[in-house]
Amino acid sequence: MERDSPPPSRSTTVGEEPAPPVQASSPDPEVIATQQVAENSAVADSGGDGPPVQAVAPELILGDLKRQMNRLQREIRLTIQAQLGQMAGRSLGSIEANRELVRSIQEMLDAHGLRVRCTQCGQPAILRVSPRSGASAGVFVFDHTVGGRRTFHGGRVVMPEIRLVAKPPRKSRSA
Ligand SMILES: [Zn+2]
Repeated sequence: MERDSPPPSRSTTVGEEPAPPVQASSPDPEVIATQQVAENSAVADSGGDGPPVQAVAPELILGDLKRQMNRLQREIRLTIQAQLGQMAGRSLGSIEANRELVRSIQEMLDAHGLRVRCTQCGQPAILRVSPRSGASAGVFVFDHTVGGRRTFHGGRVVMPEIRLVAKPPRKSRSA
């Protein structure tokens, strides 16, 4: 609506003062040039004194990564254990539901290279639900190999206390 006033003032500024834009643009290249000189001299200094400090050895990176992974894995193990611990002493009421529960748990443990520790012998095991006469919802058992034989320990009608351990490496049986 009021476009009368801006045009006159703008035209007078451009026409009378051509110098300011040139002065404003000149400081920037100087600053950039100074920074480049500083960087070049820093590189030259480190190169002359000895091996470059910035290059971290791959073994150190890998070692650091392994430590971080171990810390994270421990955190995962303790988190899963804490949550599963809340289920101890409980049953879902049917063998199908209990089987589905331990199957889900086992799937999660497998994904993180974990096993449950047998409460009877302490060895790494897989938690399963087996049918048993008199127990309509089945019984929770620890499935593992003891002395070269597949063995089931436990056998309570409720979820046992869960302690997690690392999955043991596969043994190549030559005997
Ligand atoms: Zn056992």
